[in-house]
Amino acid sequence: MPDSRAALLLARQLRELGLSWDRPPDAKAWRAFLERVERRYEAVERQPARPESLQRAASQETAARSGDARRVCGERLQAILDALPDLLLLVDEDGRCLEVLSAQPERLPVPADRLVGRLLQEVLPERQGERILEALRNALAGDATVQVRYSMSFPAGERLFEGRCVPTQYRDRGRRCALFLVRDITEEVDSGPRERLIGAVFRAATEGIVILDAQRRVVSVNPAFERITELTPREVVGRPADFLRDVGDENRSAELWREVQSRGSWTGELTARRASGELYPLWVTVDTVPDFEEESVHYLVLMSDVTAVKQSRAELEYLATHDILTGMPNRRLFIDRLEGAMARARRTKCACALLFLDLDRFKAVNDMLGHQTGDALLQALALRLEGAIRASDSLARIGGDEFTVICEDLTSGTDVAAVAEKILRALDRPFRIRGTDIEVSASVGIAVFPDDAEDPDELLRHADAAMYAAKRAGRACFRFFTRELRDRADRLFLVEQRLRRALADGALRLVYQPQFELATRRLVGLEALLRLDDEEPGVDPDECIAVAEATGLIGAVGRAVLEQVLGQIRRWRSAGLPPVRVAVNVSRHQLVQQRFGPWVREQLEQAGVPGECLELEITEGAFVENEEAMQDNLRFLRRLGIQFAIDDFGTGHSSLVNLKRLPLDRLKIDRTFVRDVALDPNDEAIIRATVAMAHGLGLKVVAEGVETRQQLEFLRATGCDELQGFVWAGPEDPERVVRWLGPGAARPAETPPDA
Ligand code: C2E
Ligand code: MG
Ligand code: MG
Repeated sequence: MPDSRAALLLARQLRELGLSWDRPPDAKAWRAFLERVERRYEAVERQPARPESLQRAASQETAARSGDARRVCGERLQAILDALPDLLLLVDEDGRCLEVLSAQPERLPVPADRLVGRLLQEVLPERQGERILEALRNALAGDATVQVRYSMSFPAGERLFEGRCVPTQYRDRGRRCALFLVRDITEEVDSGPRERLIGAVFRAATEGIVILDAQRRVVSVNPAFERITELTPREVVGRPADFLRDVGDENRSAELWREVQSRGSWTGELTARRASGELYPLWVTVDTVPDFEEESVHYLVLMSDVTAVKQSRAELEYLATHDILTGMPNRRLFIDRLEGAMARARRTKCACALLFLDLDRFKAVNDMLGHQTGDALLQALALRLEGAIRASDSLARIGGDEFTVICEDLTSGTDVAAVAEKILRALDRPFRIRGTDIEVSASVGIAVFPDDAEDPDELLRHADAAMYAAKRAGRACFRFFTRELRDRADRLFLVEQRLRRALADGALRLVYQPQFELATRRLVGLEALLRLDDEEPGVDPDECIAVAEATGLIGAVGRAVLEQVLGQIRRWRSAGLPPVRVAVNVSRHQLVQQRFGPWVREQLEQAGVPGECLELEITEGAFVENEEAMQDNLRFLRRLGIQFAIDDFGTGHSSLVNLKRLPLDRLKIDRTFVRDVALDPNDEAIIRATVAMAHGLGLKVVAEGVETRQQLEFLRATGCDELQGFVWAGPEDPERVVRWLGPGAARPAETPPDA
């Protein structure tokens, strides 16, 4: 068994030599070692003293000892050296072997006695000799240990070595010397647990792995390679890597190898063909791997079949650019295509047209027959539209019931008209959906590039404006974008921009027009009216509201107005002014929002204003389609004490049934009827009938736009309750209008001057 003292001694001696032996020997090695030590002792006793060189290499401590002790120590040291499993040579800077300090004879390229005094580069094969000499010189120059790996062929096979050149301070005939320590690492490199693990990884990898030799011939492949390429190892090992080729591009392979040569690696996609003939996308990485001696190379090829990745990427791309319901291009792809078409038209100096199609009354289909039927109708419609256009035209669904067609290479305007006509005719036959025949028509607007617009956005806006013109013309027809429409579209755009700016800057202002009781001339209410006050010439409120409605800004405008009104009421109340009912105009768009009722309640609460102070004016036209959400909102707000007036009565088409069912308080006779009193007996009759009907329904009547004394007298005679008009007061700023408030406040003159 190992003697621990001997082990300690050994370790110390080796340390003094600047060496370490970190592999614990097994029992057998120890026995051999001790035997050698013994034999060595005997031999040393018979031999003359060791050369000076070794004595120097021994420790200072040893050298300081007296003769006998010194001899014993030197012998012991030699015994230890001889027992080292590694080869240890003392060499000079030219590579000449000065001494074999320790050697396993079977590992030496030549017998030890023939090695001493000779250059390593003479004894070893040329390549190995040169590499060791280079390492040796580097070690001496840098005064640091330098490692070098090399292989040698022996009758029993090739072995791998790791040599270390350790510089010393010793000089022999003026030449610097180094220790050259060599360890056989063949087993370590070839069959360690790490190697086994690497083997397992190689086999289990899902990526195909191929190792090629320096001549690019296959050395080995893993199972994933077989799965991907459908090639067996027998078919490829030892052969050129023909599978690294792009079937569509013969030059790819040459490019690949050129890049590997110049940069050491290549990554890219190849279109490959499986043994079964199937084409597939192959993602490949080729890396250069220097071999053990770093002299020659191997190539490591990693490859994966990216069919699935590409498929899901393609699916995502499809979803992002197509409408799921109809499978048609969506707005995004449509804009891309429109840009492309316009660019081509610019290049070829041709025209292209955009047709904007909107179904007529599609909402009614959804409401009456349900959304599923609506969806099925859109799908059927998409198919019919596809059948109606040319293959070169491009169809898209860009909104609920909005479709677009891009027609390229137009020679004359009639071309497009024919396409529009064909589309409209395709809708003549009813659609049979779930057993029901549904008749639909569409309105189509047409804008042409380059005549009507400069960019895709503008072309789309103008085609949309033309579509609205078709709707106004009675639906089920098409209209071209015209100069007049252009002016209208430009104006719409301009007012929209100003409205947006005003909303952002808080530049929307309100004025208040008094409403008086006819009999007493007492103020009974105020109507809040919107003013768009910016530096540019004013926009009249009717236009402002129309633009807000057309552009979807009406929601934001309505919110801003109500907030301002409630803030004003709160200020009047806290200034001690008597309460007054303020009427606010709300549009249909606001009333059909489910959140509208609760939102108004929040606003009232926040401002601390009771519902009784508020009246909402709803134009008659807003009731044409009577919606549930609207009725819910009215009932909800009614419970808060809010009153309702039906505005511009006589201009819309409200039914008496609606009037009866809705929670109304007031009816406002439109000023167009009031205007012609005393001129048109029909208008007088209408007013009389309206007053009687309203009273019959329990509603108060307000006459709007009263300007003259005659009108006033007539209205008084009909029994009209309230009056709003310039004859008594126009809209005023909040600071001015307060003079009408309160019991002792001003009243309008009983008999105003004649107009
Ligand atoms: P409206 O609700 O019918 O408002 C009454 C309109 O008649 C106001 O026009 C008012 O200035 C005008 N007017 C009052 N007395 C006379 C008169 O004796 N003669 C004449 N010729 N006109 C008179 P305005 O302020 O131009 O408002 C126009 C319309 O814009 C309003 O008609 C209303 O429908 C709408 N509007 C105004 N403010 C708002 C708002 O905040 N929201 C909504 N949705 N609409 C609003
Ligand atoms: Mg009004
Ligand atoms: Mg009105």
